Amino acid sequence: MSVVPWLALAAGAVLLAVGVRSLAASRGERRYGRLVSIDAGAGVTLRSDRYRLVGRPDALRQRRDGAVVPVELKRGRAPARGAYPSHVAQVGAYCLLVEEAAGRSPPFGVVRYRDREVVVPWDASARTAILELRRRATGPYDGRADPSPAKCGGCVWSPTCDASAAR
Ligand code: SF4
Repeated sequence: MSVVPWLALAAGAVLLAVGVRSLAASRGERRYGRLVSIDAGAGVTLRSDRYRLVGRPDALRQRRDGAVVPVELKRGRAPARGAYPSHVAQVGAYCLLVEEAAGRSPPFGVVRYRDREVVVPWDASARTAILELRRRATGPYDGRADPSPAKCGGCVWSPTCDASAAR
């Protein structure tokens, strides 16, 4: 076989791969709603005076039922199970801000890793966890730099710190 058919075959394979990816992306759009905001330097900044929180989600999607879903984009691969605790906390904070701004709760937030998306539920227990984290985080950070079970065990950041040695 000459080189030309091989090149055509390779080009076809690339086009097929691109097609599969865009199909997956459009399925994601249908699932999480249409894109209403994306952070390209001028995204929507959400503020809550009540919670004294400010955040700018990478993307906001609006579902057909009107609910707005924050989406956080990450370059790395997803961990084997769920999302990293710090990413869950970040998306949770965005959910709280969306709730304040839109006047209705998002059903969930999304962390979109390089290889897959992880849905982060937003419910009463998630809200309680974020509010508790916020309450504890208003205390001074004691600057401990070397993770160890002894240090991390008493650290308020431990539940959401990826480097914690206390788990
Ligand atoms: S939990 Fe994280 S922030 Fe807290 S002491 Fe350990 S490494 Fe530092």
